[in-house]
Amino acid sequence: MKRSPIKRRVPLRQRRAKPRRGQPTKDDKASLRRFVYERAGGKCELRLKGCKGGVLPWDGDVFTRAHLVHLRARRRFGTRADGCCLGCFSCHIERSHVEGIKLPATYAELLTWERPA
Ligand SMILES: [Zn+2]
Repeated sequence: MKRSPIKRRVPLRQRRAKPRRGQPTKDDKASLRRFVYERAGGKCELRLKGCKGGVLPWDGDVFTRAHLVHLRARRRFGTRADGCCLGCFSCHIERSHVEGIKLPATYAELLTWERPA
């Protein structure tokens, strides 16, 4: 029998039920986000050009809610509060990820960071 060229021979992998060893659980990530949100007072800490400022909602769509920003590559440094800050969509996605503005590496450096013009 002729096999359809788009037939999947290997089934799609199921979503992992539990995180890998050493990876944060759902609860770990939720409490980190909560901690960073409260540390920032719900406000964007990147404050780059175009930032709307003000208190960001915890929930809502991705354009308006508060983002947990990884200052360092999560893959290498993991999810730790000193490597994260709070950001809005504009700063986090548009400035940092799309335009590639380099962020300070740690939360401590963010406090004295001179923003690019
Ligand atoms: Zn912002």
